[in-house]
Amino acid sequence: MRKGRVLLHICCGPCALYPIRVLKEEGIEVTGFFFNPNIHPFREFRKRIRALEEVSQIKGIEIFWDKTYGLRPFLRRTVFKENVRCEECYYWRLSETVKKALEMRAEAFTSTLLYSRYQKHNLIREIAEDLSYRFKIPFLYRDFRNGWEEGQKEAISLGIYRQPYCGCIYSEQERYDKKFRKLLKKEASSNEPF
Ligand code: SF4
Repeated sequence: MRKGRVLLHICCGPCALYPIRVLKEEGIEVTGFFFNPNIHPFREFRKRIRALEEVSQIKGIEIFWDKTYGLRPFLRRTVFKENVRCEECYYWRLSETVKKALEMRAEAFTSTLLYSRYQKHNLIREIAEDLSYRFKIPFLYRDFRNGWEEGQKEAISLGIYRQPYCGCIYSEQERYDKKFRKLLKKEASSNEPF
């Protein structure tokens, strides 16, 4: 691929640090795109925006922002599909990234979702490759997880806010509600929805 302008979907500030660095080192011109209607509740959404604003200043990268709080449309998309919601969540964010990349005539798109050890990496890759094929825009695949430790250390040293859960209100419950986590495990082993 030609080393041109790549639209980097950014899920949050800490996850952006390592991908921005390595892409820049490859000589790629990186523009960020913040579109994350999956982050709830509202105060958490604002915190993550502030964290990414700091990263954008520190790293000197331009970001296209969609700061619309997406709780209601997110719930409409995922209701009754809570157990498979991540696929819908990735698809929504990556398809908006593709739209933006086409609009700005980027050479390719990619995502900081590929940095997290906690995301469904292969599913993200599959969805992005499918979108790339359908919309005829290259997807720049990188396994950013290789830089997980490095990115986390940098976020800590810069004092960037690091969120304790993925984003949606479902993930917040899964993070903090131990009883619910047990129930989920039981459900997964018996394959019976509750
Ligand atoms: S757990 Fe994370 S990836 Fe899955 S739906 Fe919630 S915010 Fe999206």
